[in-house]
Amino acid sequence: MRDLIDTHAHLDDASFDADREAMFERAREAGISAQVVPGVDRASWSRIDSLRENHAGVHAAYGLHPLFLDNHRDTHLDDLPRWLGDRHAVAVGEIGLDFYIEGLDADRQRRFFHEQLDMAEDTGLPVILHARRAVEEVTQAVKKRAGLRGVVHSFSGSQEQANNLWKLGFHLGIGGPVTYERAHRLRDIVARMPIEFLLLETDAPDQPCAHRRGQRNEPAFMLDVLEAVATLRGESPDEVAAATSANARRLFGI
Ligand SMILES: [Zn+2]
Repeated sequence: MRDLIDTHAHLDDASFDADREAMFERAREAGISAQVVPGVDRASWSRIDSLRENHAGVHAAYGLHPLFLDNHRDTHLDDLPRWLGDRHAVAVGEIGLDFYIEGLDADRQRRFFHEQLDMAEDTGLPVILHARRAVEEVTQAVKKRAGLRGVVHSFSGSQEQANNLWKLGFHLGIGGPVTYERAHRLRDIVARMPIEFLLLETDAPDQPCAHRRGQRNEPAFMLDVLEAVATLRGESPDEVAAATSANARRLFGI
C-alpha cells in the first residue's frame, strides 16, 4: 500500500457534506494516508479542527485566504495565534496574494498576508501560500524572512520563479493542472525540478485532473497527479510517492 499525502485539500467544504465519510474511504483505498486541510476564513477553522479530531489522517492549517477578504476582520487576526498554538496546527495557511481576481483590495490583502507571515515566524510553523499573478511579490515577502519554510501551492509561475523559490528552500505544490497536456511550462518545470521540493496536492474540491474537468475533485483522484508527475519525470509512481510523502512529512512534521 502506498503512503501518499494530499498536501492541500479543502475537505471541510460544503460540497463534501453529503458523502464526506465515503470520500475519506475512497482516499484510504487509493493509498492516501493523510491530508493537510488549510483554512480559508475564520468560520472554516472550527470545521477543520473537528475534522482533525475525528479523522486520524487529517492535519489542520489555519489562516485567512486572500480570496475571502470580505469575510476577514482584524479580530480574526487577533484570534489566529491562539488557534495556531492550541489546535495542533501543522502550518499557517492558506495565506497569500491574488491579483488575478479583480476588485480585491490589494493593500488590504498585503496587510493580512504580512501579519500572518509574522505569525509563522513567531510560531516556527511552515506556510501554505496562495500566489496567483503574485508569485514575484510573494517570493520577495518570503525572502525578507530568513528561515521561513513552506510551499507555494498550485504553483503556476515560470522556471525562473521556481528556481528562486527552491533557493529559499520553498516547495512547489503540484496538482491537477499538471495533467493538462497544454500546460507546457508547468510540465517542463515538474519534469526537471529537484524532487526534494515537490509536493503532491489536489486542491479538492477544485482543480480536477484533465479527464475530470468540471467535476468535484477529491483526494483519491491524486493518483492521476502522481501518474502524470512520474511519467513526466521518467520515474516510477512508487519512487515519486515515497519522495513526495517524505517531503510532506518533513515540512509539516507529520
Ligand atoms: Zn486552497
